[in-house]
Amino acid sequence: MKLGIVGLPNVGKSTLFNSLTKAGAESANYPFCTIDPNVGIVAVPDSRVDHLAEMYHSKKVIPAAIEFVDIAGLVKGASKGEGLGNQFLANIREVDAIVHVVRCFDDSNIVHVDGSVNPLRDIETINFELIFSDIEVLDRRIAKSTRGARNDKALAHEVEFLKEVKAHLEDGKLAKTFVVEDEEDQLILNSCNLLTVKPVIFAANVNEDELAEDGQENDYVAAVRKYAEDVDAKVFVVCAQIEQEIAELDDDEKKEFLEDLGLKESGLEKLIAASYSLLGLISFLTSGEDETRAWTIKKGTKAPQAAGKIHSDFERGFICAEVVSYDDLMENGSMHACKEKGLVRQEGKEYVVKDGDIIVFRFNV
Ligand code: GDP
Repeated sequence: MKLGIVGLPNVGKSTLFNSLTKAGAESANYPFCTIDPNVGIVAVPDSRVDHLAEMYHSKKVIPAAIEFVDIAGLVKGASKGEGLGNQFLANIREVDAIVHVVRCFDDSNIVHVDGSVNPLRDIETINFELIFSDIEVLDRRIAKSTRGARNDKALAHEVEFLKEVKAHLEDGKLAKTFVVEDEEDQLILNSCNLLTVKPVIFAANVNEDELAEDGQENDYVAAVRKYAEDVDAKVFVVCAQIEQEIAELDDDEKKEFLEDLGLKESGLEKLIAASYSLLGLISFLTSGEDETRAWTIKKGTKAPQAAGKIHSDFERGFICAEVVSYDDLMENGSMHACKEKGLVRQEGKEYVVKDGDIIVFRFNV
């Protein structure tokens, strides 16, 4: 999964990106944490992976991973190609979801590019750039399809449909709020790969004293939440500065530090939970002496396709999946005990894999 971090300058993007990638890299010893300064791979914290690895004395532990991309150059005018704007927009096109950092903290020492703190205006500024870029994509597509539309009914319909989408965007609305009734039309829209259909998580960056989970949220956060509801986005409240401090700590210190702040989870954990839920993702597990590994799939994925995540041969030659749930295994202490109780199931092609399934795939080569 690939997440792109966007936001106006000085809202705390780099602070958040650096702390997320550092925390994720350190906690799981991920071998390839930094590909380039703007891309970081973060291990998904999952205690199930650690417990399983212990049980099987696995030589290697490979947690699920999320790739974060710091897309710093999205500023006012980016869509007009000012600076490196277009390149940044192209980067966003490749992510599965957008993490949009909005400034929800007051601090007179840190200049806001537009002179005052106003998260909704900030969101609108970024959205405008994304919408503008989408309109350009549509214009090109409409022009191309129009050339072939004279003798092709389907293309003629496509042009009409895309013009409607464009009018919606020109109203300042996101493509994801455009209601598509027809399946064919949905496919056309998907093929445009617009930026404003991408799932969005707002990272409301607050000050340390506003972070406690039982405390009152500030008005900025409340405004972001209300907006997010309207566009089907998620919100997570974070203090980038605190995350930076957390990233320096080892696991025990971290726990204590979070408790002192009245928090259950770090920002990284909250963000990962929000992303999994927003994108409808779950993890299944494979475990043995060689390695224990978590694999990320979409909810609803069937056994052969889940097997295909590991290797395409597993999918092609799929025979069956031997499945036990993580909870059953932990409760009974060993695979042997689970087998005796009949808790290890043989599942076929139509089996829908569940979160926390531990699976051995049987396949023909
Ligand atoms: P970017 O331009 O969006 O990448 O922003 P930076 O991460 O460079 O942060 C801009 C400034 O805001 C830096 O001086 C940070 O230390 C500061 N900053 C980031 N997060 C917070 C926060 O939660 N509270 C406060 N008071 N300052 C923050």
